[in-house]
Amino acid sequence: MTHPTPTTNPRSKTSPRKLLPEAFSRSAFGRSTSRRVSWLPLAASLVLSLLLPLALPLWAQDDETSRARNQPVEPLHLIDNVYYVGASDIASYLITTPQGHIVIDGGFVETAPMIRDNIESLGFDLADVKWLLNSHAHFDHAAGLAALAEWSGAKVVASRADAPVLAAGGSGDYFISAEHNAFPAVEVARTMDDGEQIRLGGTTLTANLTPGHTRGCTSWSMQVDDGGTPRSVVFVCSVSLLPGVSLLDNEAYPSILEDYLATYQRLEEIPCDVFLAAHASFFDLAGKRQQVASATQNPFVDPEGYRAYLAKNKRHFDKKLAEQRAAAEKTTAPEER
Ligand SMILES: [Zn+2]
Repeated sequence: MTHPTPTTNPRSKTSPRKLLPEAFSRSAFGRSTSRRVSWLPLAASLVLSLLLPLALPLWAQDDETSRARNQPVEPLHLIDNVYYVGASDIASYLITTPQGHIVIDGGFVETAPMIRDNIESLGFDLADVKWLLNSHAHFDHAAGLAALAEWSGAKVVASRADAPVLAAGGSGDYFISAEHNAFPAVEVARTMDDGEQIRLGGTTLTANLTPGHTRGCTSWSMQVDDGGTPRSVVFVCSVSLLPGVSLLDNEAYPSILEDYLATYQRLEEIPCDVFLAAHASFFDLAGKRQQVASATQNPFVDPEGYRAYLAKNKRHFDKKLAEQRAAAEKTTAPEER
């Protein structure tokens, strides 16, 4: 894989990463604005190469929005054997079993130590993590996987469509450039097709392929025992439509519209009592965390919140699709106007 040099580092001032993929502005995805270094005098480039790595670590989420979403927070027991071990918005989940544990998502590079500390402060051993699952191969959910895999010895699991992007350190996404999505490459030990399962110590995680946001976006699901009541848990990958993504005649991803529509239908049909997702803001972790102590029922049992999340995103999706269709008609039939 290509490892960005300090002068072409996408986190450098030449192409600031303003926001996470879910909220990326169109400008953040433009052509590379990195500068070539050949014109620099040798002395200046030496100074730069010595100083920049100190001031600006590679892979860093160095912009304000990313940092704001990646604040350390206390881990939290969600339900049965499921724990939140991620950052303020960048989610990560620990699923414990008597035969070892499963972690879903690794966050940014900077999230990985938070995830490790959260797992350990809950009293679990990182070395007992056997499987590292990924929701999708974007830098804010996949960049910490390499470190977590190294520290724990766990094997990485991802969908067949997203695995090559993980193996290539972020290049190969249909929309986000390799430079913007760059993260430490990670070897995928098991690739999942739709409906395939990971089983460990009495727990079964099912890979539900929900493509659109990435080609292999995976919403994992499992069953838990909520004090004698069985509950369906869904870890939603993401249905966010990044600003600037074309749903019509998308050469990089020809089936994007069909995939998104099928994903909405799939998620609307899947049973969901416990709504969790790749971003904590999707299911209001902060609000629900406040309710834990006083609520008579587990606030994470929230099928209505799940429906509301899907409905809200579908309205936005339909609006964007209508806008893109209107724009396409305008350009193909100007004489009719
Ligand atoms: Zn994403």
